[in-house]
Amino acid sequence: MKLVFATNNRHKVSEVQAILKNIDIEILTLSDIGCDVDIPEDADTFEENALQKARYIYTHYGMNCFGDDTGLQVWALDGEPGVHTARYAGDHDNEANMQKLLKNLEGKEDRSCRFKTAMALIIDGKEYMFEGIVNGRIAMQKSGVQGFGYDPVFIPEGYDNTFSELGMDIKNSISHRGRAIRNMVDFLEKEYAG
Ligand code: IMP
Repeated sequence: MKLVFATNNRHKVSEVQAILKNIDIEILTLSDIGCDVDIPEDADTFEENALQKARYIYTHYGMNCFGDDTGLQVWALDGEPGVHTARYAGDHDNEANMQKLLKNLEGKEDRSCRFKTAMALIIDGKEYMFEGIVNGRIAMQKSGVQGFGYDPVFIPEGYDNTFSELGMDIKNSISHRGRAIRNMVDFLEKEYAG
């Protein structure tokens, strides 16, 4: 089965390809299908944003596809940055976003948070939604160089290191996106195998 992943984020594509490497699903990227549009994601929920991305591809290209939307929810900040995760301080400026987060958490004891991914799948016009969550806490400072986004400041539950320090294999085995994609694959294997 071929599925278009409706993202321009090459980190996400390589994470998903690594997770699917032994599974009979071929991921096509937006560049594979000649799409260089920055697909809008301006809704109020992760689910609607994920659907927006998948619907764009299905409407314009008629191909089976999925889109994801992820947000970081920090409980001492009332769930912020939430749907504003990508542009918390500046548009897709990871460094500024992390600095703003560390600043806003100064003096707060509770640094607990979670990443949540909503993943919308469209197969032959039918829409399905999957989710993946990883709980954790925000580190006191950035550590590590791997990954992307807020990886240098996110410490998953059960670990003492950030996603950036833990590396892609561990991140993929426990992450929000890893969990969402495995939920989607379980569904595809059940419903569409053979
Ligand atoms: P998106 O809208 O799904 O691309 O995600 C919104 C923002 O969440 C991104 O711009 C990143 O800052 C952040 N983000 C998404 N996934 C991850 C991740 O796996 N690690 C760290 N940050 C992430």
